[in-house]
Amino acid sequence: MAEMRTPIESGVPDNRPFLHPALLKNYGSWRYHDRPRPGVLHHVAHSGDEVWSVRAGTQRQMDVYTIRKLCDIADQYAEGHVRFTIRSNIEFMVSDPAKVEPLVDVLTKNGFPVGGTGNSVSMIAHTQGWLHCDIPGTDASGAVKALMDELHSEFIREDMPNRVHLSTSCCEINCGGQADIAIIVQHTKPPKINHDLVANVCERPAVVARCPVAAIRPALVNGKPSLEVDEKKCICCGACYPPCPPMQINDPEHSKLAIWVGGKNSNARGKPTFMKMVASGLPNNPPRWTEVSEIVKKILYTYKEDARSWERVSDWVERIGWPRFFEKCDLPFTKYLIDDWRGSRANLNASTHIRF
Ligand code: SF4
Ligand code: SF4
Repeated sequence: MAEMRTPIESGVPDNRPFLHPALLKNYGSWRYHDRPRPGVLHHVAHSGDEVWSVRAGTQRQMDVYTIRKLCDIADQYAEGHVRFTIRSNIEFMVSDPAKVEPLVDVLTKNGFPVGGTGNSVSMIAHTQGWLHCDIPGTDASGAVKALMDELHSEFIREDMPNRVHLSTSCCEINCGGQADIAIIVQHTKPPKINHDLVANVCERPAVVARCPVAAIRPALVNGKPSLEVDEKKCICCGACYPPCPPMQINDPEHSKLAIWVGGKNSNARGKPTFMKMVASGLPNNPPRWTEVSEIVKKILYTYKEDARSWERVSDWVERIGWPRFFEKCDLPFTKYLIDDWRGSRANLNASTHIRF
């Protein structure tokens, strides 16, 4: 009889070999947790064991020297174990309260701010930007760095009405997800086609199939197989660019940035919500993206002042209504915020301009 073949498992690896021993021993058996100070979580197990997790912000995309530095800090000041949160913060676990303050000090001294817990502005969840991805219309990490420099004080404190999650997405078909406040690329012109390259680089049926509004057709240009775009139909989404880079849609002037608010992924206290666009056509202006930062800060601090305790941004807007949101944040409500795409009927209830 043939020998049984061992199945090849793929997916999430078993994390248990890498857990801090106290976390492994008390897995799923915690009595309570609290936060002795911003950036520090304290877990108490039924067995009586206690663990302090010190959370610090990182730049997410790290060079090897930074990673070595964080590992050295983990070996010398913590107990050799770290983990990363989904917002790219790093957490160091210790089982002795006397180790917490020296760990906080060494992290702060090395430029890793301790915070991001509770009702703070946590690290911005961001995608990869120019460093890794092949389709970005802007940088994600650069915009995050510029914005977090200005929001540093909100990361290390916990005095927002509720937690605030920000995100950036460096293309329009982004992987950024939903956030309380999101910065997203917005293309404003249809792609310009580099016809000389299409036949060599693109699989034309794949590009035609990719367009959500059927605006792309095969065409012969200068005797060569190429593509054409019906610009009246095109919604400038950028989806044709990844499978076919000659569909050039990124443009230093016409690729802009938009701000969306009110998204939430979790089920905590209320159902998840989709975010809605509240500012559009902002210049894509590295290295500090000042126009974007100004609007994000305006929305954030209006929310901070006006929201009730425990309201997320979406709850706050729901309570005051979109017209008041635009008034309070000094944002103009323009035609660009109205979803007038002919297929938008299903979205109307999710946009800022109509509420049933
Ligand atoms: S948001 Fe878009 S460009 Fe940025 S990493 Fe994700 S897929 Fe790539
Ligand atoms: S940008 Fe989007 S809508 Fe326009 S042609 Fe490309 S895939 Fe179609």
